[in-house]
Parts: sequence; C-alpha cells; structure tokens
Amino acid sequence: MSKSGYPQAVDELIDLFKTLPSVGKRSAERMALAMLKWQPEKMNALGELISSLPIRVTPCPECGNFAEDGLKCTICASPLRDTSTVCVVEDPAQIRTIEASALYKGVYHVLGGKLSPLSGKGVDDINMSSLVSKIAEGRVMEIILALSPDVEGQATAVYVGNIAQQQGVKVTRLAQGLPAGADISYADSATIAVALNGRTDF
Ligand SMILES: [Zn+2]
Repeated sequence: MSKSGYPQAVDELIDLFKTLPSVGKRSAERMALAMLKWQPEKMNALGELISSLPIRVTPCPECGNFAEDGLKCTICASPLRDTSTVCVVEDPAQIRTIEASALYKGVYHVLGGKLSPLSGKGVDDINMSSLVSKIAEGRVMEIILALSPDVEGQATAVYVGNIAQQQGVKVTRLAQGLPAGADISYADSATIAVALNGRTDF
C-alpha cells in the first residue's frame, strides 16, 4: 500500500487518468475505482484497444487529420472536396466542429500544435513543412486560418499567412463570430457558419 492507501497499481492508474483533460484528482480516483469493478475481460479489451491505437489511428498523409491504417482521411479521400481551399487548424477536434456546420467544402491542414517561441516550439515541432510544400506547389488558392486567438495561435497565423501571401495565395481567417479567446473546438455549428461565411482577409 502506498501513502494514499491504494495499491501501487491503482495509484498509477489514477495518475494516468489525471493527465487527461478536465480530469481532476477526485474524478481520476472515482474512475479508477469504478474500473476495478469491471470484469477482467472488459479490462483486457480496454488494454488491447489502447495499445492498438498507434497502429489503427494514423495521421492522414495529406492533412494530418485522424485516419485509419495509414490511409487518407475521409475528407481528403472524398472527390467532392475542393482541394484548392485549405483550412488550417491546430487539432482534429476543430475539424469535427467545422464539419458539423456542413458548410465547408474545402480540405484541412492539421498543424498538431502552435508555434511557441517562449516554450521553444518552432516550425520543426509541428506539421508545418508539408503545409509550406503544399502552398509552394501552387495548387492552393485560399488558406483559411482557423487558429485560436491567443498569442501563440496568432504567431502561428502570421507565420502561415506570410508564407501564403508571398506565394500569391489568398489568406483569410474566420470572422469574429467567435468570442475572444474561444476555442473553435467548442463552438456550435451556427457560430462556425457565421464565422466561415463572414471570413475576412488576413
Ligand atoms: Zn486528410
């Protein structure tokens, strides 16, 4: 038994749960205790599912969105999408939100993070080089910046915007329907629709 009174393995499980978003110490503890009541088969199934994730869920080679088994994501694989319009987002979560509005017909590019000079996160630490190559190839007509309005998001937007503009690509950003500081991932469809329709030049 550890200092917490739980066996070491339970403490380790609680510590893992605590690393998830929105999970505090108490919630992590409740989740771990609930899981201990599971049948062993269910625990095994969860363990196997988690360990299979790196193989089964792979980044789309075109855009970095979630995809399966090394294939393109469903958006890049669709012949109905306009590949000349690229919406730049930080995470796949934002794609889900924008797709829910059912208004956007272009494709995406997932950076997988933001530039952060203060914490030493540069262009090589995010999925930037493939976006730069895409722009350089001359097939992109418009870049829509859907990055968060914080300092790092704006630094990233300026970086992408400059590169695109140097190549003569139109650069826009989502209109200000989104509240300041709001994460696009949690915006509702109506808000996204307003933001997309009213997008402004960068
Ligand atoms: Zn894709």
